[in-house]
Amino acid sequence: MTRPSKALIDLAALRQNYLTARNLHGGRALAVVKANAYGHGAVFCARALSDIADGFAVAFMAEALELRQAGITRPILVLEGCFDLDELIAAHANQIWFAVHQRAQIEMLEKAGLPPSSTHAWLKVDSGMHRAGFGLDDVKEAYKLLSRVPAVSSITLMSHFARADEPGESATEEQVKAFEEVTRDLPGDRSLCNSAGVLAWPDARRDWARPGILLYGANPLPASFLAQHPEQKLAPVMSLLSEIFAVKTLNPGDALGYGGTFVADRTMRVGLVAIGYADGYPRGVPTGTPVAIDGNASRIVGRVSMDMLNVDLTHLPQAGIGSQVELWGRQVDINQVAHHANTIAYELLCNVKRVPRIYT
Ligand code: PLP
Repeated sequence: MTRPSKALIDLAALRQNYLTARNLHGGRALAVVKANAYGHGAVFCARALSDIADGFAVAFMAEALELRQAGITRPILVLEGCFDLDELIAAHANQIWFAVHQRAQIEMLEKAGLPPSSTHAWLKVDSGMHRAGFGLDDVKEAYKLLSRVPAVSSITLMSHFARADEPGESATEEQVKAFEEVTRDLPGDRSLCNSAGVLAWPDARRDWARPGILLYGANPLPASFLAQHPEQKLAPVMSLLSEIFAVKTLNPGDALGYGGTFVADRTMRVGLVAIGYADGYPRGVPTGTPVAIDGNASRIVGRVSMDMLNVDLTHLPQAGIGSQVELWGRQVDINQVAHHANTIAYELLCNVKRVPRIYT
């Protein structure tokens, strides 16, 4: 018998979420598949989207080349841009778009001497996040320099939001305003929205969206926002699943697992599940974190170990060895698990490892 832990990936849900994003936003949408498609498998996800997606975005060149080598022919944007001349030449050879967010990258393009009108660049404007991008005072000059490089055929103007997942927060409006002011006279397409932008900031929608987390069915917005926007319902893509492989009875006073952090206050049944923090399930979650056992709500009890964890079966007399446990997915909202782990769904998804991914 093989270990029953797996990440089930629903590619139809991925496609549905992509179309939801593009319909909401309008225009075109780059599916963000960096970090191995947020842990879902970049090549599989890109192939599943390749007949409907306008293009893809990844973080760095090796991720883009992996997709090209797998036969993905749609546009691919490298969000961090090129680190050196070799990457620039690879980008050109593979028709990969790249972001330009600092002066050194323009100088590199000038030096590369690529054929005229052979590349498309995305100029990144720092409209207020203060991470990557040309500051507002430098944007016009950067645009001028970039447009003078013979190899550059066209420029898309992009920016990224720091706080779009906080509906009503003025920082996003200020970023949109700053972006508009500084780019007003500059020709080219525009791109502002990540997932939260697509979902919560209609005024920020432009020519291209860049949704990531929402493709995978995790909504970055607070539950209160979602309650008001049921039409934005997303379909979870990954279900992290395992099974109970041992059952134990605890007597009142018995301490369970490392550190003895959970002590039974009555007679209890607990099930041992074949998944742990080495598979990417977060070690930091407390007793009470939700799981589903054969479709029924239950909870983690005690500390998560490297390869296994315990769940409460006291109220589920039918459950036992072989019962299926969903750690997150269709029945257990990954955002709730992330909340208990004091992190975000992005990190949980990216951390999944060691378990096989099964595509449906
Ligand atoms: N655009 C850029 C520049 C990003 O860095 C990211 C992700 O970090 C995205 C889009 C996608 O963001 P999200 O996953 O929040 O939709």
